[in-house]
This record gives sequence, structure tokens and C-alpha cells, in this order.
Amino acid sequence: MSITDAAFQKCINPDCAAQFDCAQALFKCPKCGELLDAQYNWEKINVPDKLSDLEKRWANRNNPLDFSGVWRFRELLNFCEDKYKVTIGEGQTILQQNDAVAKYADIKQGCLYLQYEGLNPSGSFKDNGMAAAFSHAKMLAMSSCACASTGNTSASVALYAHHCGLKCTVLIGSGRIAFGKLSQAMDYGAQTIQILGDFDDCMRQVQDVCNELGLYLLNSLNPFRLEGQKTIMYRIIEQLGWDVPDWIIVPGGNLGNSSAFGKAFYELKQLGLIKRIPRMAVINATGADTLTDLVNNKKLTWNNGKVNQKVIDDYYADLTARNFSPRTCASAIEISRPVNLKKCLRALDICNGVVRAVTDEEIVDAKAIIGKFGLGCEPASAATIAGLRNLRAEGIVTADQRVVCVLTGHPLKDPDVTVNYHKDKQCQFSNPPIEVPNDLDEIIKLIR
Ligand SMILES: [Zn+2]
Repeated sequence: MSITDAAFQKCINPDCAAQFDCAQALFKCPKCGELLDAQYNWEKINVPDKLSDLEKRWANRNNPLDFSGVWRFRELLNFCEDKYKVTIGEGQTILQQNDAVAKYADIKQGCLYLQYEGLNPSGSFKDNGMAAAFSHAKMLAMSSCACASTGNTSASVALYAHHCGLKCTVLIGSGRIAFGKLSQAMDYGAQTIQILGDFDDCMRQVQDVCNELGLYLLNSLNPFRLEGQKTIMYRIIEQLGWDVPDWIIVPGGNLGNSSAFGKAFYELKQLGLIKRIPRMAVINATGADTLTDLVNNKKLTWNNGKVNQKVIDDYYADLTARNFSPRTCASAIEISRPVNLKKCLRALDICNGVVRAVTDEEIVDAKAIIGKFGLGCEPASAATIAGLRNLRAEGIVTADQRVVCVLTGHPLKDPDVTVNYHKDKQCQFSNPPIEVPNDLDEIIKLIR
């Protein structure tokens, strides 16, 4: 096996800081149990002098790695050789400036952008991460993989697994998964195991299952997955003419995206490829607001890596004592024990970030606006616009700042929420079907 010495894995706990080569599937530090990062010896990598040097790859549509929205930035996630790299055309996503949604969010015309990650092959941002993680799995010659999922991960894992010839098992909670996503996992051929429990239960089980059976774990504990998700930020910068926005707004579930985005900006700044780092807002749903509570009320911070573990332990012990299970219509972020919590705290530190929670009502209203005036999204994605509206009302985001909301999933991921919203005439922006007799005059009367 040939492994590049340009990359290594490193424990995020500064008191440990253990390093491991990339030829191991670890997912947690074997010495202290903390999360691992992919890190780089940048001097051994041919990083371009400026990001715009990467533009020449656009003309090279016949090379799948140049076509991929992940691998065309490959110098910035250089942990495996090209021969192992997996792509199914992920990352062909767009950044849309949207004035109608800007008006709803009280942002000046021309200043709001929506990043549509639902345009990925499996319909969510997860494909960015899977392209990277499955490349690592191929490098390690793995034959089987598994994940726990609120839905989008299982769809993406199942799609990449059958593309790469890996046996695939997904663990989902009972009755807590959007229909569109469950249908994908089954259709793409994954063994789908439904556990009588919620996502947090699945997450605990899948780690033990992977350890026991030697399966490759594809949750965002996997540091290589987050490397792929960094590219969402590269593409936003690319579409802004290699400029950074003032704000990135992202839904907060397992906190893989926010963690990856913070790391992306830190590295770009370190490499001198950007001049400033944008601020970040992470938006929870109020029914799954662990991060918001810990950061805003318990004052938990990154603290140079010395995160106060007791605050987290006490918080989770209280959740357990109350038999708490998170509840939100935004099933993708229905998570109360986010595995990337500490990496997210680091990202908030890097990006001078803020955290807020929005209600389900705010989410579905914002979702209807994104559907009516944009390309639509799944409920969790709409938390970004709902959160932005509140941050505007608080005066934390100003009307003339350039804001990018990351819309993580496609509207067809969760058709039930959409149909139920529009059928309910009480909802603020509902657009219900109108029943009419089978009669031409009656039909014409309605349309006229
Ligand atoms: Zn460690």
C-alpha cells in the first residue's frame, strides 16, 4: 500500500496531540478517545499560489477528478493518491443570489446567496464527504462499511458503496427518517437496519458494530469525510469570484459541516489563499438545541482545545436522566449528542461564530419561501434562512452584509413535511390543491 507522507491524522486534544498515518481507519484517538483530524505537511504539497489557478481545471471536463466539485480542489485535501480517488460527479452545485428570499430575511437586494447542495447525486451535501471518505476506504482496501443515519448519510453511503463495490449496512432510528431518504437507501441496495431508538442510539451502536466487525465507519466521526465537506466552502468562494462572504449560515445537527467549514477557512488563511475568514452562524432546531444551550447558556467554548468536558458530561447525564429524545420536523438535524461538538466549538472560535435555535414553525415557513422563490430544500436547510431572519432582528447580521446560506438537502428528501404544510390552510405560506368537479367551466373559472 502506498500512502502519501503529505498527510497524517492527529488528535484534536492538545494534551494528547497523538499522530497516526493515514493508512489506518481509526475514527477516534486510540490514546485518549478524542476526535481526529486529517492534517497536512503543506510544504510537501504543491498548493497553488492563488485559488484562481484552479480555474484551468474547468476546461478539462473529460478528467473525472477535474469535473468533481471535490477533487478539483485536491491539493487542499491531499491524503491519497489519484488512483484511489472516487467520484460520481459530486459537487456540481450552484450558488444562487436570491433577492426574493433576501427580502424575507431582511437582507439588502444583491447580498443573499443560497448554496444548493441538494443538487448532488444523492440529493444532499453528504456526497462531498463520501467522495473523500470512500477514497480513503479504497486506499485501505476495505470491503464493508456502515453508518448511522438520520437519512441523508444512508442515501449517500449506499450510493457510493455500490459504486465502489463495498458491502453496506445503514442503521436508522425507528420512524425518525424522512421517506425520500429511506427510499434511497433501499433502492441503492444497502442493508437497512431499523433500530428501536433515535439517531443518538444508532450512533452509539454503529461505532461498536464497526469495531466488532472491522467495518469502515462513514459517519462524520470519520475525519476524511469532513475533508470532502471543506470543498463546499471552496466552491462558494469560487462562485463569488474567489472572494469570501461576510457570513456563512449552516444548519447544526451532528456538526460535521460547521466543523469542516471552520477547518477549511483556517487552512486557507494559513496558506495565504484568503485574506479574511467569514463569520459563521450555526442554526439548531429548538427541539434539538444541544449546541445552542451549551454555547449560549453554559458558556462552553473551544478554549484552545481545553474544552470543559464536565459541562458536556453533566449536560448529557441530564438528557439521559430526563429520558430526553430530540424532536423536530427537520429530521436531518434531530440530534441531541452531536459527535463533532468539539470540532464545531473550534470552528466557532476560528470564525467568530454564533449559535441560534429556530422553531419548527419558523423552519417550515422559511422552507416555503425558499421553495416559492428559489430551488427548494429539505426542512433542516431552511433553518438557515429562519436563523438569518432572527439574526437580522437582533442586529447581529447587518442588512448590507454578504450572506451565504448552505441549503444542505433537496426538497424531495422529505415530501411529507412539504405536503402537510401546503395542505394546512392555517400555515402562513401554504399553497393547497383546490378541489373542483370534473367540469370544464368550473376548471376555467378557477384559472381565469
Ligand atoms: Zn488523543
